Amino acid sequence: MKTRLDWSAYDSYGQGDAYAHIPAEGGAYGKAAAVCIGNRQCQREEKGVMCPSYRVTHDEAHSTQHRAATLKAALNGEYGVQPFIGPELEAAMALCVGCKGCKRECPNGVDMALLRTEALAQRWAGLGKIPLRERLMAHLPRLAHYFRFFGWFGVLRDNLPLLAKAMERWLGIAARRSLPRASSRDFLSSAPVAATVPGNAREVVLLVDTFSNHFDPQIAQAALEVLQAGGYMVHVARPADGERPLCCGRTFLSNGMIEEARKEAARMVDALWPFVERGLPVIGLEPSCLLMLRDEYYALGLGERVAAVAKSALLLEEFLAREADAKRLNLNFKVVPGQVLVHGHCHQKAFGAMKAMRKVLGLVPQLQVEFIEASCCGMAGAFGLEAEHYEVSMQMGELSLLPQVRAASADTLLIANGTSCRHQIRDGAARESQHLAQVLRKALGEQQKETV
Ligand code: SF4
Ligand code: SF4
Repeated sequence: MKTRLDWSAYDSYGQGDAYAHIPAEGGAYGKAAAVCIGNRQCQREEKGVMCPSYRVTHDEAHSTQHRAATLKAALNGEYGVQPFIGPELEAAMALCVGCKGCKRECPNGVDMALLRTEALAQRWAGLGKIPLRERLMAHLPRLAHYFRFFGWFGVLRDNLPLLAKAMERWLGIAARRSLPRASSRDFLSSAPVAATVPGNAREVVLLVDTFSNHFDPQIAQAALEVLQAGGYMVHVARPADGERPLCCGRTFLSNGMIEEARKEAARMVDALWPFVERGLPVIGLEPSCLLMLRDEYYALGLGERVAAVAKSALLLEEFLAREADAKRLNLNFKVVPGQVLVHGHCHQKAFGAMKAMRKVLGLVPQLQVEFIEASCCGMAGAFGLEAEHYEVSMQMGELSLLPQVRAASADTLLIANGTSCRHQIRDGAARESQHLAQVLRKALGEQQKETV
């Protein structure tokens, strides 16, 4: 079996372990599935993220363990010669939202999100085609530029149930979902190439993802202003080939289009390399985009530069917390009396970034910060937009996140760094939430803005 991802990190798994049930086929991919030892910690529902699909269904068939077991059975030939196009794997993987809860919380670190990506790629290869909806979702970064010209269509579709229903039948996009709206102006076309500040400023690189560029440019702007206010010289990352904006490749990877994800990731590595070589930190805003550089890039076979890129890649909160720890952070936040309620993106939690969120918000005088204890919000990229997943997506949100958001007073500020999480909060609780960068920008007040 020829795998699409590089599974060599699992090459030595199970060596000398007579009890490691390594499947007959699949090589290191099979070994990655065999990491699951079946002790069913993923079928518990205490604190944490793992596993949102089990938490809402209470059905073992939608647990991480069952997914790993089904994959192992498939690689052992139990579902015929073409197991990836059969119903067993499709059903087992159907409700996996790729949250990475298992990668962090499973005692053995089963990375089901990545295992599922390979299974999906194998499925498309076996079928010889990729469904239109998945292709559209995957190509969002390339299509997003055109969204602003069709804002009227989004408004029409969200207000005409018949049109929404027709789209659901044609494309499989849930009629009860609002569509993401692009901003009338993207961030990158007017962003400075390198905004300078006087003196010996430290240089940093701001990585503006598709979502912060086209859908929420105010987030990228806020991050730029916060960094400039801290005295950093900000380089905004641009493609080395001067073509379309950079993209981490996440939407391609989530939809099993590994070759396209690899191409985007290679462009990203090329663009960042001159900065990474100089030791500059690369600061990202959208958790699932930035953290891909530290995680899935290793599985894309991009060569040795990946380790250095991964080491440089930081979320805004991680960078600021690190600077604060090193006593280098020069941001004068004004007193902001009030309450904020924070929802962490699953990938922020999987990579331990919530501590940094707590630390950075703690720098704002008198801000009372509360963290929501919740699993996945349920939107999970395109998952919640898919018609067949709408109900379960809302159930995931209703487990904890949405009731807590509804219970918050109207003047409580909501923070959610993930674009999907903000979408889910908007749809499910009719509340707007903000990125940390926007809250920090506000906490700087007008005076500091004028100095940048
Ligand atoms: S996925 Fe992890 S927690 Fe679940 S059964 Fe396997 S080893 Fe245990
Ligand atoms: S990635 Fe998330 S949804 Fe998928 S198996 Fe792991 S914990 Fe469950």
